[in-house]
Amino acid sequence: MIQGLKRVWPWLGNVFEAVFTVAHGLWVTLRTGFKTYRPDRKTFTEHFEYPELPVPVAARYRGFHRFDLTTCISCDQCAKACPVDCIYIGKERVEGSKGFKITGYAIDYTKCMFCALCVEPCPVDCIFMGGTHDLSCYSRDGCVVDFSRLPLDVAWGRATLNPTAVAQSKVITEPVHGGPNQ
Ligand code: SF4
Ligand code: SF4
Repeated sequence: MIQGLKRVWPWLGNVFEAVFTVAHGLWVTLRTGFKTYRPDRKTFTEHFEYPELPVPVAARYRGFHRFDLTTCISCDQCAKACPVDCIYIGKERVEGSKGFKITGYAIDYTKCMFCALCVEPCPVDCIFMGGTHDLSCYSRDGCVVDFSRLPLDVAWGRATLNPTAVAQSKVITEPVHGGPNQ
């Protein structure tokens, strides 16, 4: 009799555990499903008013870059540090000066992996990771952002980069500012 109980007890324990875990899994599924019908449940856009207002991100969020063309000295340190070679800097030597005129500062976001390795070596702190997390476009060309064609307040703002400004920058042929060496 005692031997029989000793064998049945673990078996009962296993049955209980199996029934409990299945019931618990079902309860989680049901509870999540019923949340859909809660009267105070809001849609995503009611919480964040997206895309009119940007979704809040953490202070150290690594989103699309912010770049200050007015202080960049076109030293190429950021482009050399980029592991996927997606920073393209155009520059022209200025006659009678040691410096360069920046003719383009483009980042190809089809390749960028937001590692921030370009930020560290910049000697004048003119490139940072920004707070913009989306930049939708209809073509691959729309993913190539030339910061030298953007207004400074858009290019340098923490979360001001937007598809409209990028689209407008595509028809601008000259940099909005030639940099400190111009
Ligand atoms: S974040 Fe990384 S991948 Fe993107 S441009 Fe900078 S170094 Fe290159
Ligand atoms: S962003 Fe900084 S590191 Fe890159 S070229 Fe300009 S000054 Fe040099």
